[in-house]
Amino acid sequence: MVADANLKEIEIDLEALERKYAEERAKRLRTDGVDQFQELKGKLADFDKDPNADPNFARDAIVEDVDAVLIGGGFGGLLGGARLREQGVDSFRIVEKGADFGGTWYWNRYPGAACDVESYIYMPMLEELGYVPTERYAKGSEIFEHCQRLARHYDLYSRALFQTVVNRAAWDEKRNRWVVTTDRGDKLSARFLVSCTGLLSTPKLAKIPGVESFAGHSFHTSRWDYAYSGGDQTGNLTGLQDKRVGIIGTGSTGIQAIPVLGQWCKELYVFQRTPSSIDERGNRPTDYQWIKSLKPGWQLERRNNFASILAGGKEDVDLVQDGWTAIVKDTAGPGVGADEQADPKELKLAEMRKMEETRRRIASIVKDPDTAEALKPYYTYFCKRPCFHDEYLDTFNRPNVHLVDTQGKGIERIVPEGVVVEGKTYELDCLVHSTGFEWLGDYSKEFGVEVIGAGGVSLADAWKDGPRTLYGMHTRGFPNFFLMHLIQAAGSSNYVHTADEQTQHIAFTIGECLRRGVQTVQPTEQAVESWVQEVLTLGSPRRQFLEACTPGYYNFEGNAGRVSALNEFWCGSPLEYNRRLQDWRADGELKDLETS
Ligand code: NDP
Repeated sequence: MVADANLKEIEIDLEALERKYAEERAKRLRTDGVDQFQELKGKLADFDKDPNADPNFARDAIVEDVDAVLIGGGFGGLLGGARLREQGVDSFRIVEKGADFGGTWYWNRYPGAACDVESYIYMPMLEELGYVPTERYAKGSEIFEHCQRLARHYDLYSRALFQTVVNRAAWDEKRNRWVVTTDRGDKLSARFLVSCTGLLSTPKLAKIPGVESFAGHSFHTSRWDYAYSGGDQTGNLTGLQDKRVGIIGTGSTGIQAIPVLGQWCKELYVFQRTPSSIDERGNRPTDYQWIKSLKPGWQLERRNNFASILAGGKEDVDLVQDGWTAIVKDTAGPGVGADEQADPKELKLAEMRKMEETRRRIASIVKDPDTAEALKPYYTYFCKRPCFHDEYLDTFNRPNVHLVDTQGKGIERIVPEGVVVEGKTYELDCLVHSTGFEWLGDYSKEFGVEVIGAGGVSLADAWKDGPRTLYGMHTRGFPNFFLMHLIQAAGSSNYVHTADEQTQHIAFTIGECLRRGVQTVQPTEQAVESWVQEVLTLGSPRRQFLEACTPGYYNFEGNAGRVSALNEFWCGSPLEYNRRLQDWRADGELKDLETS
């Protein structure tokens, strides 16, 4: 795949641009890596309070024996529950920290929240539920409602334990049961345990000196306080009309919230460390005639087509034709599976032209030249997650919106009055932390559940040198335990697609075990070893690519260690991953699993 005609006309001074990329990267280098962030605990526990839940909620503790316990009620838990029902397994519980289903879409209700992956491929089970999203890029509230729709359709509310956190899950070898205990005193005993706590679900704050000293109002984007801001996800933030608001972070979340904040705040200060690449999103209402013209099975076909193109596959037609597929088609970039026949220098130039196009777009929209320059990204595509938005850049043309570029250094200090950058204090009434989430870090820490497997060995100990799984879903020593994550599973920009496949696989395995009277199931050591070797081998080009990148969460803030090589995706094509799982199920022999 090569760049299109317009891109080819963009002149690139390769050496000068490489120098510029290196200079920009150097500004961001620091030694503390992922330790520059902190959890919302201890002194920061207030940041983790759920603004959408009833703080006085109470219920009696439950003691119950079920076939399966699923931890997490986002798309993983929802699809898991749905697929279990399809397998005829009705005895299960879904334990969820929030007060409803939805996961990401329950928590992330910040103004402007939406999904920049096309709704027709992102929102699962559209054909099964007969639902058509109202627009190409659905808003967060519509996706959240779809989660609730899924839950109602598969009667999952009756299986849910909301506002409940699992503390511990221990394997009882005598009874072949998981014993799951929660912060509400529940004791659930289950034959199977499924972890569906998802990705990017543990919010984090930057360890900025004085972060807890701010005297104004402050919250993380995933815990948006509408009682303070007024309004809702669509705007109308009347509580901010007389406020000076600061927002830290310009990742995918920040760039969605900033346009709405800019519209409503008296003054908005955007504290930027590294600019995101912002390409056109091209949202539009759904064309229902087009939807009517689609043949059954269209959603899977469209999802597969997107996944294939994103993985560098050759497809006759690009069904989705959005910013994501454009980047890949125009660059065949090393982050996503380069064309092996292509000249590396040509590939490099194609990628640089594409990013130059993005920079030119910024310059054409943002009127103040210094602001436009500060918003330009100088790094390779897929070093950081690409962003797509149609209003973000124009927001900087508003007189009340101020970009504070920290030159890659981040914020110096937070003081009671506001935020300090390069010695200057920006006085604020409200400070929003759009500083992201834990990513492929220490799984046990992120999962937050003490998991004790066979022989009393904890998952944290078993994985102290890195995760060891089969398909990212089974791990040895932890019978009847399934994980849903991207760790050692197929990486995808559309995780719900992967999650959908994983839940079908897990539910099938559980269903088969119950039907066959299998008591315990776990992967063989050989199967795990072979999968781990695949993870390492297939991941090697991605690791090399990320090492040279500007720091960000993708490359563990520029400080990846050995464990992180195992915390990575299985870097083959998601379609190949799905095909292997489908073949395994079709084979029906429970191959590579040890059963008793
Ligand atoms: P990110 O981790 O992408 O962004 C965090 C931001 O905080 C970055 O801009 C980071 O700067 C900045 N930051 C961190 N520390 C400091 C500091 N000390 N001083 C100043 N700035 C700092 O989190 P997001 O919540 O934005 O996004 C996380 C992921 O969630 C996305 O990548 C995406 O996968 C998903 N998402 C998807 C959406 C969708 O539409 N599909 C929408 C929203 C999120 P720097 O870049 O320099 O590290």
